[in-house]
Parts: sequence; C-alpha cells; structure tokens
Amino acid sequence: MDFKLSVVVPAYNEQENLPVLVEKLVDVLRQADIQSYEIILVDDGSTDETLAVMKVLHDRFAACHYIELSRNFGHQYALKAGLDAATGDAVISMDADLQHPVELIPDLIRHWQAGHDIVYTIRRDSKKETLFKRLTSRLYYKIFGAFSGLNLPAGSADFRLMSRAAADVLKQMPERVLFLRGLVFWMGFKQQAVVYDPAPRFKGQSHYNLKRMVQLAIAGVTAFSVKPLRLAVYVGLITAALGVLFTGYVLYMRLVAGTVISGWASVMSVILILGGCQLFVMGLIGEYVGLTFMEAKKRPSYIVRYSSLAQRKKS
Ligand code: UDP
Ligand code: MG
Repeated sequence: MDFKLSVVVPAYNEQENLPVLVEKLVDVLRQADIQSYEIILVDDGSTDETLAVMKVLHDRFAACHYIELSRNFGHQYALKAGLDAATGDAVISMDADLQHPVELIPDLIRHWQAGHDIVYTIRRDSKKETLFKRLTSRLYYKIFGAFSGLNLPAGSADFRLMSRAAADVLKQMPERVLFLRGLVFWMGFKQQAVVYDPAPRFKGQSHYNLKRMVQLAIAGVTAFSVKPLRLAVYVGLITAALGVLFTGYVLYMRLVAGTVISGWASVMSVILILGGCQLFVMGLIGEYVGLTFMEAKKRPSYIVRYSSLAQRKKS
C-alpha cells in the first residue's frame, strides 16, 4: 500500500512492555502489507531501563525511532511530542502497555481509507479493569460532558488514528495545557468510532493514580468551557435569594409574631455552608486564573533531549 503510517507510543517505565509491543507492531504491519511506516517511541523521563530498551529497538528495527524527553512531562505531553514528530499520512497513537490491541490497527486504517479523518476507539467496559477504575472513568466522562458541553463518548482512550490533515491541525494548536482526547474530539472532521476490548496491562502498574486522574479531569473541564464559573453565578444568586426570603421570615417572626428565633447551631451551619461555597468558588476561579497563567507564559509543553528522527533528517 502506498502511504506512510506513523505509530506514536508514549512510554514511562515500560522496559518490559516495549520489546513485546514493537515486535507485535512490526508483525501486524507486515501482515497488513504496510511497507512504509515509522514507529516513534517517546521516553517520558523514565527511571528504569526504558531508554536503553528503545535504543536497542532502534538499532534492531530501522523503522523504529525514539524521542527522549528531558524529564517526565506526563502522558499527554509525551504523546504530543510524538505526534509533532510524526510524518506519516496517517498517525496512530497508542499506549505502551499492550492495553490497546495492535490487531485493531488494520481496522483503523480501513476506516481512514474509507474517508474518515479521525478514527477513535472506545473501550468496551471490561471486568478485567478494577471496579474503582471503571466507576471513576464512567463518572469522569459524565462530569466532563455536563461541564464542557463536549459529548466525549465514555471510554474514549488515546488510541486513535488521525489523517495528516487532522494531525497538522493538532500540531498547530497553540495551547500548552493538554487534554488531547477532548481536543481531538473538539476538532471535528469526519470522525468514526471503533469499539475494542482492552487487554489487562501486560507488565508493570498503571501510572494514573487518583491524584493524576483528578488532575486530568480538572484540566479537561477547565480547558473546554467556563460553564463551572457560570454555575457558580447561579449558585450565588440562588443562595442570595434564599437569604432574602429567610430574612423576611425572621423579621416577620420578630415584628408580627413577636418571637425571637434563637439558635447558635443554625447560624453556625449557615456560616459553614456559605463559607465552604465561597472557598469552592474561589478555588474554581483560581483554576481558571492558573490556567491563564500557564498559557500566558508560553513555555513549551515538553522539551526534547534527543531524537533519533532529527538524526535521520540530517543524514
Ligand atoms: N505514560 C507516560 N508518561 C507518564 C505516565 C504514563 O508517557 O507520566 C504512558 C505510559 O507509559 C502508557 C500510557 O502513558 O504508555 C498510559 O499510561 P498507563 O497505562 O499508566 O495509564 P492507564 O492505561 O492505566 O490509564
Ligand atoms: Mg495502561
């Protein structure tokens, strides 16, 4: 087939998974009769032997390249580094831990050749994932949808194919704080979903703990809409209206009925609830101010220490 395919794989401490993944990739691509391709492995500041493994793979497979980031930037940024470097007519991104089935690639390519610019994947809810992960993931897509106005399908993963046109648009996107699956969905184009069964992680542990998931969730929502701020306005208005009604009630009791409402407990609860609301909304505004600050600095999203692709260009 006469097109070039890029496969981008961000990896953080995946020394045991990468050799298996790359071998599988080479195998599947050969079977699908794809001659022209590049595999771009991105080392996201791993602390194990991942980089050394990448070098070995690079020596062994001419089409396998690697990019070394200057430190750990996080999954989204490592992925962006790889996407920015990819030169294929179609660019596939996938995880290094073999959770994204390599066998699905010919399917993705078929949809692309049928005229879709973005072929994204949705993982079927799997009993193999922990209950906690499944619940938090489902909850997350609900909240994201409600607050961002973007109907990101539940179970979207960063396993997808993009056409050159779509990849170029993403590459030129100026934002620094990234939530790629939302951004790609937001871009539009002709999109097509493919459902797959995720495999359990091959080796090692997930790098997304609760803290990172919450961070990704907040970044996702704040990057796409100011709806939460508007919600704060409504909550404020409703609370103020309730306050006015309550004051009317208190005055009526005092002036007409002649009784004074006593109660330390009621005053305390109102102070605590309102105080909590105020702090919450301040934090919310803070999130947006912080985001503006991060974007305003215009620092790069990632820093490349070494790239075997740059070497290729020179020679
Ligand atoms: N990853 C990365 N940088 C990080 C954390 C993760 O490049 O700081 C990579 C990781 O090597 C894997 C992908 O991102 O290829 C998804 O990570 P993981 O499997 O830990 O997440 P999960 O599948 O549990 O959501
Ligand atoms: Mg994984």
